[in-house]
Amino acid sequence: MNKLTPNFSFTEMCLDRASSKRKSDEWLLEQLANEECQIIPTWRGQFLFNKTTLFVFNSGYKSNVLSEILGRHDKERSCIFLGMDNTSPIFVIDISYMEEDNLSRICNKTIELIDLRASLAFVTSKQASILGYAHWLTHWHRSHHFCGFCGSSTKPKNAGHSLICINNECGKEVFPRTDPVVIMLVEYKPKNGPAQCLLAEHHRIPDKVVSTLAGFVDPAETIEQAVIREVKEEAGVNVSTVKYITSQPWPFPSSLMLGFYATTDESLINIDDEEIRDAKWFTADEIRTFDEWGDEGNNYKLPRKESISRFLINAWVENN
Ligand SMILES: [Zn+2]
Repeated sequence: MNKLTPNFSFTEMCLDRASSKRKSDEWLLEQLANEECQIIPTWRGQFLFNKTTLFVFNSGYKSNVLSEILGRHDKERSCIFLGMDNTSPIFVIDISYMEEDNLSRICNKTIELIDLRASLAFVTSKQASILGYAHWLTHWHRSHHFCGFCGSSTKPKNAGHSLICINNECGKEVFPRTDPVVIMLVEYKPKNGPAQCLLAEHHRIPDKVVSTLAGFVDPAETIEQAVIREVKEEAGVNVSTVKYITSQPWPFPSSLMLGFYATTDESLINIDDEEIRDAKWFTADEIRTFDEWGDEGNNYKLPRKESISRFLINAWVENN
């Protein structure tokens, strides 16, 4: 199989996470004071743009507006260290508590709010990885204000990379979650004729868009077992081989997509219509005639270009 170098979104992280150094509060304060420090604001799951440029607080904002934001808010909770971009410390600050009407005044620019998915059109692939990381961590903070063991409040630790219960008798520490998802292209080779791959129409995507099967890994399951189980559950097909290909962090909000090629000796499909709308076998030549996500008309359409599903399909088509 050729061309398996990942070229899809969220796979080009360039930051040094400085995992040991970030444990020191003193070191973090030095980074916040660094002239090259950049703090990415996020507001209720969206990023701030001026026209098509991502808005970032840099050293020019430190003496006035930013210090006001950092000073009046719970700095530790809202400001998370992401990593070093060469010599520039990069943070994300969640300013969701602000009124939307105030954002342009605070940033001294006309601000548009753009969600992570839509912002991919305006940022480089490296920026996309940083925004995905920022979105992942701030979403986790917003959903973990309280300890799951005793119900007390939590507070950030380790530059925002863990949360600890403030109840001294409990003191449980929790870490950002990552939910593994298997995503697989299943191939069937008939005795005569070209190879075919199994693509499905899923309930939560537009009509006629076909993509690979996928599903969350269950507790106490290997990822290979998850591939076999999901293909059987969704399409009624028994898989005979499973091969891991590549992965993609998927920050909507916290999945890690694990991509596989699988093969089967069975062509009979028996779908679970609660899981998917339809599933069919397609040859590479048929897939080459498909339209793009978002195109009008009744032709079949491919999944979004930034997805690992599209990557698995493209690589398979090129080799068949
Ligand atoms: Zn607790």
